[in-house]
This record gives sequence, structure tokens and C-alpha cells, in this order.
Amino acid sequence: MLNRNPFQAPGQWYRGNTHSHSTESDGRLSVSDRFAAYQDAGYDFLVLTDHRKVNDVDAYTSSEFLAISGSEVHPSNPYGGPTYHIVAINIHEQVNCAKMHPNAVIDDIKEQGGEAVLCHPYWCGHTITDYLPLRGYFAVEVYNDTCMGIGKGFSEQSWDELLDKCGPVLGIAADDAHGTEHDCFHGWIMVKSEDLTLDSIMDALRTGSFYSTLGPEIHDIQLIDNELSVKCSEAKSIVFIAERSRGRRFLPKNGELLTEASYPISDSAKYVRIEVTDETGKKAWSNPFFF
Ligand SMILES: [Zn+2]
Ligand SMILES: [Zn+2]
Repeated sequence: MLNRNPFQAPGQWYRGNTHSHSTESDGRLSVSDRFAAYQDAGYDFLVLTDHRKVNDVDAYTSSEFLAISGSEVHPSNPYGGPTYHIVAINIHEQVNCAKMHPNAVIDDIKEQGGEAVLCHPYWCGHTITDYLPLRGYFAVEVYNDTCMGIGKGFSEQSWDELLDKCGPVLGIAADDAHGTEHDCFHGWIMVKSEDLTLDSIMDALRTGSFYSTLGPEIHDIQLIDNELSVKCSEAKSIVFIAERSRGRRFLPKNGELLTEASYPISDSAKYVRIEVTDETGKKAWSNPFFF
């Protein structure tokens, strides 16, 4: 879990999307066109996550671009709710999850060297009741762009419920790209990594060395003497979010946009995460700092 502040970690920033589909499932671009589109758009890596399928993507990795194989898997829900959508990042064998408990599916993903993400909770209609029995996932999609097609792309409340009720979990903004424009290049993660190798990127993901964004940039976050400070691109609000009723929202004064804010961490704080919203309403999310 988050044990590395990306703003203090060595390395470079890499832009990536962890959720995408091709014509191998219900996407509209071929595997090669999907990777080409993201590389052309300035991304450094892309995880291909076709439904119930793992594709061989090795041919699309170069010194400048990392292609990561993955899958979106759909274990049934033994707790009465809708079927799960779980993105597996970095697996090479299909998970035949038809009769598997969701936790066995997550175990399989991790045994393959991968990591599991709970996808688009709001779109799924999943609540904390569906997630309480699950173990071993490392992140939840705080934003999923294709789910904006029905206005349910933001799952911040689900993330906070998981943080409050289940423990440390990271947040990821992803496109879940199926088409060619409407659900592409809108939500991504900025990963601080030693280099653009699979091992380094996976290590950075696991340790929370990244932030999520729809555009705004987070320039720095520091924790000094129990005060958490953030510097960012121009924002109309900066919010420090903590468990239950804790936290604080900062708004501009005198009509000037914000570019920094600080928040004192109380002794009993469990976690604090930061949300930055720009003038157009686009957001960026830090990972939680756990105490
Ligand atoms: Zn899905
Ligand atoms: Zn998907």
C-alpha cells in the first residue's frame, strides 16, 4: 500500500491508462490501433483489459512505450448484488472466473504477478455491501470515462467508503476506452517511476507512487510536522478529504485561483487524500496518505 510519496520518490513522471478494450472484446479499435492511438496521444503506457480475455501485447512495447497485458474479469456476486467488474493489470493467463469466488479471482490475479482494481462502482451499482467481503485488491476506479455516458463516471464516495470501512485502497482515474474519441484520453494516472519498465511501473503502482487526473496537475505534496501541503496548477478548490466528517475545503479569495493549500493532520487521523478542481470542473486526486 501507499508507502511512497511520489513527489519525494526518484524517477520520472509517466502518463498511463489502466483500462482499455479492443475488437478482441467490445472495443472499436484493433489491438494495434488501440496502442497506437494512446502512444500518438502522448501516453507512456497502456494496459489492454479486454473482457474475459488476455491478449499478447509484447509486440507493442518499445523503448518509448510500455504495453501491459491485462483483462477485465467478471466474477459473479455471491452477495446478491450485480456481477463484479475487476481489472487485472499485468496478467498473462486468462482467469476462468465463471465458478470462482471473487476473492479466488483476485488471488489468481496476484499469483500471476498482477494487481486487481475494483472498476466503476457507481456504474455497477455496487455498494459497500458488495465490497466488504472482498480482499486483496489494491485500487478502485475513482473515475471511469466511459461511464460518463450515463453520467456515472465519478465514484469518490465508494472510494471513501472503502477507506472508512475496509482499509487502505488507492484511487485510479481511467478511460475504459471502447470507442475512438468519446471515452479516450480523458482520465489517466501520472506515475512516478525509476524507468518505463514493467517491473518499475508495477512497483510504482503497488506503492501508490502516482496520482489521478482529468487535466489538473499536482506539482508537489509534502508532509512536514503533521501538516500536509499541496502545490498544483490553478484551482477553484482544493479539498483535503479524511474519514467520515473530517477534512477541509479551500476556496480562492479575492477572485484569484488557488495554487497551494495546507492542512493540519490530527493525531487520530486515519488517512487524508487531496482533490484539486480547476475552473472548468476538471479534477485531480492524490492517493491517500495513511497514518
Ligand atoms: Zn466494466
Ligand atoms: Zn472495461
